[in-house]
Amino acid sequence: MTRSEKTNPNSRSDTRETSEDDCALSKAVCVYLARVGFPAKQWPGMKLRPNVKMKSDETRNRCFLEMNLLGDGRHVFAAAIDYSDVESKLLVRRTRMPDMKYAILIPDGAADDPLPELDNRTPLEAANTPNMDEVARLGVLGTARTVPDGFESGSDVATMSLLGYDPAKYHTGRAPLEAAAQKIPLAPTDWVFRCNLVTVIDGIMKDHSAGGISDADARTMIHDLERAVQVPGLEFHTGVSYRNLLVYRGSENFELATRPPHEILDEMVSRHLPKGIGSDMLQSIMQHSQRVFAGHDVNRVRTATGHNPATQVWLWGQGHPPAIPKFADRFGVNHGAMITGVDLLRGLAVLLGWDVVEVPGMTSFHDTDYAGQGRATCAALDRFDIVVSHIESPDEASHQADWKTKVAAIEAIDEHVVGPVLDKLRSGDQWRLLVLPDHPTNIATRRHGYAPTLFAMCGIGLAPGGSTAYSEAQAVRGQTISEGHELMAAFLGK
Ligand SMILES: [Zn+2]
Repeated sequence: MTRSEKTNPNSRSDTRETSEDDCALSKAVCVYLARVGFPAKQWPGMKLRPNVKMKSDETRNRCFLEMNLLGDGRHVFAAAIDYSDVESKLLVRRTRMPDMKYAILIPDGAADDPLPELDNRTPLEAANTPNMDEVARLGVLGTARTVPDGFESGSDVATMSLLGYDPAKYHTGRAPLEAAAQKIPLAPTDWVFRCNLVTVIDGIMKDHSAGGISDADARTMIHDLERAVQVPGLEFHTGVSYRNLLVYRGSENFELATRPPHEILDEMVSRHLPKGIGSDMLQSIMQHSQRVFAGHDVNRVRTATGHNPATQVWLWGQGHPPAIPKFADRFGVNHGAMITGVDLLRGLAVLLGWDVVEVPGMTSFHDTDYAGQGRATCAALDRFDIVVSHIESPDEASHQADWKTKVAAIEAIDEHVVGPVLDKLRSGDQWRLLVLPDHPTNIATRRHGYAPTLFAMCGIGLAPGGSTAYSEAQAVRGQTISEGHELMAAFLGK
């Protein structure tokens, strides 16, 4: 670029003389535009100059770029770009697209393997999902490995990844994330444990959720357990359904291996009890709960009405509170909201500095108000720059090996959440939509899977990749993201 071509006579770039800098800058802008989804051929070189304003800052190796992409004075795109080493270190400090809306829809555990009951199709492939298929057709379909090596597959690790945070760096345990949701004040030295109400029959883990026990029943039982267990520094906190927490503020140290109860379904629990330093205390609380819950009124009613009783608590998912940078600081997208029926994701939202939007009638099971969640997600897009809407029901159906309910849940999500949100976004013109299960949950094993999960994203700057349906088989032929936490930057165009 030469001086005569500069378009903003008032910018400090006019005082610059070095044409090498200009060349590097021009290249940096092209590389950057390609990265955010505007291929150079679509925006050839610097021919956008009438709408491009640039100025360098004092360091001379960073530019602030403002582009009017559609030439209408409204669609201004701004970024700060470090072009000191264009080839290897193009760093985007901050990107701002006024009015840009991002929506992420998470049908938890929806991905699966082909099932004989479904003519060797997966539940997503068997379900009627015109809207998810449309997202796949409009944009990019692929797979992302959201559970890194060495981690147990679960929504804590997988959701942290898909929100752009490397679990290897930020994950301290599942329970501390849920404690954040309940806004339980924690010191860095405190420990938090997940305290599931579970059903163990004849020494076998039959149900990690005690039949999806109600909040009221859970409260009664946890309260009775708390009165019976007298260990200094222990506090029980009830959550949603079977998902309760135990906080330990005492002096005991822990170095523990624990197992999630949903990972040991139909197995002998004696092989999976907490092991390591401090495990005696946990085992004694679990044994204590067996005595308190045996013959409990709540269990008598549950058994008489055909529901799984809560035979004991199961302690796992322990950790200290994590230190997680705010989403706005990390990605430059300011106002975020989370819509979910589970505390784990509420907690992540709190740690990210996001609002949590509550929807009456939303549960983690197939009885949830899908349409209510769809409406709430659309409404939140008016108020927030990025909205994550998480639906737990396909995961719970998978843990129960209930493929019919899983297919029905996927169809309900497609009709009542994905469809309305896609319509809502299309009524504007600067948006991106990402649809992905956090992890697979396999009907065949009733457990979370470790295979990379499928994702589809569409919207401004994302060209169709040739996929025709939201299907695991098609996704493996699409884009591969081996570090799941890198998907967020690709989605945001950072
Ligand atoms: Zn699950």
